[in-house]
Amino acid sequence: MVSGEGVMMHLEDGRSLIDGISSWWAVIHGYNHPALNAALLTQANKFAHVMLGGMTHNPALDLAATLVRITPEGLNHVFFSDSGSIGVEVALKMSIQYWKNIGYNGKSKIISLKNGYHGDTFKAMEVSDDSDFTRAFSDVLRRGYILDIPEGGFDADAAVVKQATDKLEALLQREHQNIAAFIVEPIVQCAGGFNIYSPLYLKTARELCTKYNVLFVFDEVATGFGRTGKLFAAEHAGVTPDIMILGKALTAGYMGHAATLATSAVFDSFLGDNYEKALMHGPTFMANPLACAVALQSISIIEEEQYLQKIDKIQSIIREQFDSFTSPAIVAKRSIGAIGAIEMKDAACLSGFKEFSQQHGVWLRPIGNVLYLMPPYIISEKELLTILQVMKDWIQQIK
Ligand SMILES: *Cc1c(COP(=O)(O)O)cnc(C)c1O
Repeated sequence: MVSGEGVMMHLEDGRSLIDGISSWWAVIHGYNHPALNAALLTQANKFAHVMLGGMTHNPALDLAATLVRITPEGLNHVFFSDSGSIGVEVALKMSIQYWKNIGYNGKSKIISLKNGYHGDTFKAMEVSDDSDFTRAFSDVLRRGYILDIPEGGFDADAAVVKQATDKLEALLQREHQNIAAFIVEPIVQCAGGFNIYSPLYLKTARELCTKYNVLFVFDEVATGFGRTGKLFAAEHAGVTPDIMILGKALTAGYMGHAATLATSAVFDSFLGDNYEKALMHGPTFMANPLACAVALQSISIIEEEQYLQKIDKIQSIIREQFDSFTSPAIVAKRSIGAIGAIEMKDAACLSGFKEFSQQHGVWLRPIGNVLYLMPPYIISEKELLTILQVMKDWIQQIK
C-alpha cells in the first residue's frame, strides 16, 4: 500500500482495493480522513508525547471524560495503555488485585468463553480459547474456567439462554471463592468466528456476577464504537460491566492505543497512601497525546455525523444481500451492525478466496472457515455492494 483515501487502499503496483475489513476493524472512518489528519497535526505541533507520571495534559483528560460520558453509566474511571492486549492485561490485573485490596484472599481465577479471543500477551492468551495463536504455549498457560455461549444467536429463546446461565450459576456456586472475574466479548465473539449470542445471557450473567462476588469484564476492543449497531455492545443488554476494555477503533486506526474503564467501586479499592494497593502498571506511552487527540476527533465525528444510522443502513444491506447467497457449502449466515459473516463447511472452501477478491478489487481475509466483512462506516452503498458481490460470486461457484 502506498496511499489510501476513504475506503480505498492504493497499492504500489497501481491496483486499488476496497477495504472490506477496516484494517482489522480499526479504520472506521476510512483512510486519510482530513479531520483526523488535522487533529493529529495540531497536536503534533504542540507536543507529540509526555510521560503521564506526575504530569497530565488536556487530550488525556478530555478523552477520559468523553469515554466516561459515552460508555454505560457507572464506568467512571479510565486507564490508558498501548494496545487491546495490554488493555486486557490491565483489566485482569485490576480484577485480581481488587479482591486482595478489599480483603478477600484466593480470588484469582478467571472465567472466559469458548471461542473467545482477548489478545496475544500471556494472560490474554490464558483467557482466549485454544487456537493457532496459543498452541505453542499451551503447556505454560494457566487456564481458568471456560463456558459455552448460549446457542440460538441474538434472538435466542429464553429457555435456551437459561441452559447456559444455569451452567454459569453452577460454576459460580461451586467455585466463587477462587474466581476474580468473568471476561466476555459482549454479543459478538469476533476473531473466534463471529459468534453472536443473546443479550439475555449478559443480563443474567450480570446479576449472577454481582450475587457471587465476581467482577464482570467486557472486552469491547472489537465491538466498541458502533460495530454492533449500538455505540457499545453492552447497550444491547442494558448492563454496566465492572470493567470494560476499548481499543481498535478507539483511535480510528491512526495510533495503537487502548482504554480500560472501571467503576468507582473498583477504582476506590486501589486508593491509598503507599504503593501497596496501587495498580502498578505504567506503560511508557499511556495516554499518548497524539492518540488521545485523534480518538477525541473520531468520537466527535461518530456523534456529529449520525454514524449509528450509517451502521443501521450497512446492516440492512448486508442482510438483504446475504439472503440471496445460496450454496450447500454454507453452514450459517450471521450479521449484526456492520458485521457480516458466512460460515462455510470447511476452510478448504475458502482457499484461493484472497487472490480472487483482490482480482476483483476487494480486500478481505477469511478467518478459518468464516468469510466475513467489517467495512469502514463511511462506505458507500455501491462499494458495499461490490464487496458483497465478490463474496457471493465466490460462494456460488463452490461445487
Ligand atoms: C483485537 C482484539 C484484542 C487485542 O487487541 P490488540 O490491539 O491486537 O492487542 C483483544 N480483544 C479483542 C476482542 C480483540 O478483537
